[in-house]
Amino acid sequence: MTRDTNAQTRFQTATLGYPRIGKSRELKKALEAFWRGQSNAETLIQTQHEIELSHWQTQQNAGIDRIGIGDMSLYDHVLDWSIYLGIIPERFAAFSGLERYFAMARGNEGIPALEMTKWFDTNYHYLVPEIPEHLQPADFSDFLATVRRAQDQLGDRAVPIILGPVTLLRLSRFEMNQSQAASELCDRYVQLLQELKELGVAEVQIHEPALVFGDAANFKENYQATYQSLSQIGLAIQLVTYFDDLGDNYSWVMELPVAGVSLDFTRGRNLELLQQYGFPEDKQLGAGLVDARNIWKIRPDVLQSTLDIITGVTTNLRLQPSASLQFVPYDAQRERKLPEPLLQVLSFAEQKLEELQLLATHLRQPQEAETSLEAIRGQWQAFQDFSPVNQGVQERLQRLSSQDLERPLPYEQRLQQQPVLPPFPTTTIGSFPQTSDVRKLRVKLKRGDLSQAEYEAAIDAEIAKCIQFQDEAGLDVLVHGEFERTDMVEFFGQQLSGFAFTEYAWVQSYGSRCVRPPIIYGDVARTQAMTVREFKVAQSLTDKIVKGMLTGPVTMINWSFTRTDISRREQAMQIALALRDEVADLEAAGAKMVQIDEPALREGLPLKPERWDEYLSWAVDAFRLSAAIAQPQTQIHTHMCYSEFGDIIEHIERLDADVLSIENSRSNNETLFEITDAGYKNQVGNGVYDVHSPAVPATEQMVQQLKTGVANLPVSQIWVNPDCGLKTRSWDEVIPSLKNMVEAAKVLRQEV
Ligand code: GLN
Ligand code: ZN
Repeated sequence: MTRDTNAQTRFQTATLGYPRIGKSRELKKALEAFWRGQSNAETLIQTQHEIELSHWQTQQNAGIDRIGIGDMSLYDHVLDWSIYLGIIPERFAAFSGLERYFAMARGNEGIPALEMTKWFDTNYHYLVPEIPEHLQPADFSDFLATVRRAQDQLGDRAVPIILGPVTLLRLSRFEMNQSQAASELCDRYVQLLQELKELGVAEVQIHEPALVFGDAANFKENYQATYQSLSQIGLAIQLVTYFDDLGDNYSWVMELPVAGVSLDFTRGRNLELLQQYGFPEDKQLGAGLVDARNIWKIRPDVLQSTLDIITGVTTNLRLQPSASLQFVPYDAQRERKLPEPLLQVLSFAEQKLEELQLLATHLRQPQEAETSLEAIRGQWQAFQDFSPVNQGVQERLQRLSSQDLERPLPYEQRLQQQPVLPPFPTTTIGSFPQTSDVRKLRVKLKRGDLSQAEYEAAIDAEIAKCIQFQDEAGLDVLVHGEFERTDMVEFFGQQLSGFAFTEYAWVQSYGSRCVRPPIIYGDVARTQAMTVREFKVAQSLTDKIVKGMLTGPVTMINWSFTRTDISRREQAMQIALALRDEVADLEAAGAKMVQIDEPALREGLPLKPERWDEYLSWAVDAFRLSAAIAQPQTQIHTHMCYSEFGDIIEHIERLDADVLSIENSRSNNETLFEITDAGYKNQVGNGVYDVHSPAVPATEQMVQQLKTGVANLPVSQIWVNPDCGLKTRSWDEVIPSLKNMVEAAKVLRQEV
């Protein structure tokens, strides 16, 4: 590698966005107070600006050379861009200002919100732009005001972040003709760049993550034409891509008329592509080296080999996180309850800023970084000693054969040994209302106001109430109600070794909603039965069948921060082994049915369709490993909500679950028909009741839905259930709703 005299300025650091919710979730609190009418717009905006300023200062103090700004949002950055660009659907025409903003985000008196969906393969959700027939005028004043504030604070370190025009189009729905929309929007982006130039901005980041989609080539001309127009303004454009590699599009993307291209080197094969095709001499490489999607510190030796390859190709580079840091929490050092060796290898946003600076120092003056890098190596070593390989788990995994993934008999033969129920058997998905009284029990237990025995007695009283209600309502297959569970992943993670839980590590899921994903840090093993006690209590209270209730391995993986030293597949298989033992214990305790929920199975699909099979293959294997221990007469259920199945149906079949319950009430039977059209043979739990609405579904409405279902599926294949668990509903809603549902099943039994 050649070093030049510019080494001091050459290896600069840049960020691509920061968390938004506030270090102590200040934005969440401010939003919720505003929505409740307990504060006003001014206070809300002031809070937003204060949080934003603190982010800028943190990045400035960390020494970041180019700080991405303008990504702070009251609800969602994609919504912000819809509004700046005048992409306002007709139905919001009567609103303005914040009222319109939140109407688009959350709906307003019968006017539905924009649709919300997953942001690429992250657990963040954005609002889908709806491009109406006629755009409203663009209005960049809020964005420009942010830029001015940032310039005051950061000078020319401030680099505006712009959501890319082609990505925005790619994610939108259209009423307008698509090519007309492309050209109208392009004009507006040109206008924006002009206005930024007038403010003295020299450089912008334009984020085009859609360039990593498998279908990016279909938009090639659009990218070329758009960036041709944008390049005319004379700003330095940093074209930012992330979440995966550029694949076959690498070569033409490198030729776009921009000053720099950012690549994610933590996912996909960008490093190979760089080696193979090189990097244009006239462009700067934004090297996404620090993983913005996971919470681990850098591993100096792994990173060194990546750096060697990159610097062998170009030294005109910047050191960056792989994407916006919005996907990680703020500060690992705030955690007080994690074991020290684990804490020392965690890196949240603030630690990642330090890592960027360290890498820059390392490239500029290697000897100056050596002490810090050596310290990190030592921390990883200490962590390894603290969390050694679990030999027992490793040996079990090695001994596994394909037999272990196979139920003892095929479905048709199992069916004959399984419980006989009336046609249209009714059941629920597992959880019943988590009332504040139930949640208080856990607080009291934690504080020591309740002993373990007192806590369990109180939970058992809830179970008893729940069983009695289900019995009286006439449901056929009962559940214990999941009162002992905070969250379907956390509950299991807390009982498994290898999982850690944080106090403050919140990340935004959407709007004001945050999640605190568990951290899988070591080999996962079960130390004792996790659900058997509550199952037994429930089953002892009724002659009807009570389903055992577990969270599946794939969902646990997809809703956690996972290890990077072993594959996700291996981690899923370890969890599956633990669940396998739990299934066996439940069976031994008398369970005739066990449900293994996998609501997040589809969420884990890779961005590039060519990698779907690889993912689904291990994901389905992990599910099968957990379920296959069951005797033929034990009925295995699974549940997946808000999913589409059409394009992955052969994998759903390979799960080999006896009963699959799905959300179906909001899709107008779409979801059900996807399954039946594909010729799915096993039983399907037809979700007939929307658990996200407080409305009590009428019997007649559920009867109608079931009838259309019957027209497409033999009666023997159909179960009747709500779309999902009932934990967010109140008993007042649940009681009449389930009674109506049972009534609907009875109507069908008579008519069909
Ligand atoms: N058994 C879980 C429940 O009822 C399933 C939740 C889910 O699908 N997200 O709460
Ligand atoms: Zn669900």
